[in-house]
Amino acid sequence: MIDYLKEIISGTWSLFVGLGITIKYFFQPVVTVQYPRQTLPMTPRFRGHIELVRDEETGGTKCVVCGMCQKACPSGCITVEGEKKEGGKGKVLSEYTLDFTKCSLCGLCVESCNFGAITFSKDYNLAGLRKEAYVFDLKKRLEEKK
Ligand code: SF4
Ligand code: SF4
Repeated sequence: MIDYLKEIISGTWSLFVGLGITIKYFFQPVVTVQYPRQTLPMTPRFRGHIELVRDEETGGTKCVVCGMCQKACPSGCITVEGEKKEGGKGKVLSEYTLDFTKCSLCGLCVESCNFGAITFSKDYNLAGLRKEAYVFDLKKRLEEKK
């Protein structure tokens, strides 16, 4: 009989302890978000895949097709192509492809660019069924962001 009463008291006590914890957290600020409907802003040092930076003056890209990022990449992820400017010096970017399946996010491409033309994106929720979904046309992505 005494053991039986002890079990009831201990069960009731644990019930109130559990309820106390629930009530305590119920009144504290919410620290989760309703992903994927809500997303959190990434920290400034977060490294997503690289992306082209917009030139605010021209609305186009800052890339001058020097090819340094392509040479610097140890994994061969980057393909840069340019076309000769009509009646001018230098080239205009015609293709900038990133094969993100090979990228180690080392940052050598970003460091090697002397024109601030590429940076890390804040894109952290990529999803795809085929690896081809991770080969990005960065020029097109920049144009679509307008
Ligand atoms: S992104 Fe920078 S390093 Fe790469 S080709 Fe363009 S200007 Fe050169
Ligand atoms: S972060 Fe590194 S591996 Fe990825 S594209 Fe740039 S240089 Fe290549």
